[in-house]
Amino acid sequence: MLREENPFIKGWRKGLKSVALVYPNRYVGGISNIGLQYIYAEINSREDFVCERFYTDVFNGLRSVESGRSLKDFDIAFFSLQYEEDYFRAVKILKESGFKGLKIAGGPCCMLNPRPILRFFDAFVIGEIENSKIIDNILEAKSREDLTGVEGIYTGVEEKVKRIKPKKLDFHLRRQIIGEGAYGRCVLLEVGRGCIRHCRFCVVRQIYSPPRWRDIRLLLEVAEGYRGVVNKVALIAPSVSDHPKIKELIAGLAEMGFMVSPSSIRADTVDEELMDLLVAGGLRSFTIAPEAGSEKLREILNKGISEEDVLNAARIAKEKGIRSVKMYFMIGLPTETDEDIREIVELVRKVKSIIPKVSVSINPLVPKPHTPFQWLPYTGFKDVKHGMNELNRRSKILRKELSKIAEVSIERVDDFALQTILSRGDEEVGDLIELGRATLKTAEKLGFLKYLDGIPIDKELPWDFIDHSYKKERLIKEFENKVNIQI
Ligand code: SF4
Repeated sequence: MLREENPFIKGWRKGLKSVALVYPNRYVGGISNIGLQYIYAEINSREDFVCERFYTDVFNGLRSVESGRSLKDFDIAFFSLQYEEDYFRAVKILKESGFKGLKIAGGPCCMLNPRPILRFFDAFVIGEIENSKIIDNILEAKSREDLTGVEGIYTGVEEKVKRIKPKKLDFHLRRQIIGEGAYGRCVLLEVGRGCIRHCRFCVVRQIYSPPRWRDIRLLLEVAEGYRGVVNKVALIAPSVSDHPKIKELIAGLAEMGFMVSPSSIRADTVDEELMDLLVAGGLRSFTIAPEAGSEKLREILNKGISEEDVLNAARIAKEKGIRSVKMYFMIGLPTETDEDIREIVELVRKVKSIIPKVSVSINPLVPKPHTPFQWLPYTGFKDVKHGMNELNRRSKILRKELSKIAEVSIERVDDFALQTILSRGDEEVGDLIELGRATLKTAEKLGFLKYLDGIPIDKELPWDFIDHSYKKERLIKEFENKVNIQI
């Protein structure tokens, strides 16, 4: 039984149009997604509509949380696709439920490249839905045709789709469902969208541009409404500590008696005052994402964080009483060598000498659409099969060396190859998704390993039809001048 505050329980009556909001992953992630919560509240605030939620760990995603109704009894299903691996679960839910209504998908995966999942949905939302007419358009639509050509919607026939977004974040979700989410039982405060940084591997700069921050008066006012309901606030943004008034905000929330949990803090923004505030707000362990061990690779990533920033953040955290730190790295970066791998171990060792409990998480890089890395071969090697062997070998070195000093988790090279295919593939990749579950072997049999290869700069890309308001020439320039490897 879910313990929730604030869900909308609407009586079903004849004539009511129903929308299923499907998060094809676990409840804990879905309930922490403020965008989904916004859509839920927005639809339920309308007299003639009811919106209920579906998660894979509640009735296997086939019946709703609120009333236990079957997905097939709903008129519209709105899927939120946050991760490429969710495609399999989404398609399985659609098949097993026998849903025949209007199928809509939204979320970052759709903003990146919806082509691999094109055949499974009638329409895709490209962008941020708030303050637009999109919810009305979807609620009024009866078929794919009704949505063709609508601003911010892709139905498969449009030659260009411009991403929609609110210019200003002068609003915030007021009525939130409080459940056991990724940040615990808390109120979500979305402090901003987009990012002022230019990390080359990251999609945020392109698909959530321009960076927008919320006024802290608005944020504090929203939090005020939850005093006495919860004792914790989660601050949400791609880079929370870049908010120009982050210290004032945390101080204000702490004064109101809230514990504060930020979704991300950049090491180079940490100073004593910020750490004092975070610790006062309940922070007990700290996360640092240097992404690469060597300065050379961090330069290619354009991460903008130096070893000194990392060590300085660790020192300050230690002084303020933090006893554990989690570090994130990637492997398979362009020009990476064994020396760069050794530098990961060295950096972890240095942090460990400051804070005794270190855990390390390592992922292979997925060269994502709309980034200056989008043309890269998976693994960074021209011969991808050889590259995958290399990455497996490097993973072993890292596991062996790091497990002596830290808790280590390293994602599988095959799994991230599959993610790259799902992320960079074209329509035909739907054949793989159709299977409901897939391995790299299946992808190979279907001839999809080609999506792991480096892509010639002049080739048209499956996601070129999405206009995120950046100039492709800029990405090409960055790729040619900074990444600088032969593909
Ligand atoms: S990795 Fe973080 S800091 Fe870098 S651009 Fe992405 S969101 Fe911003």
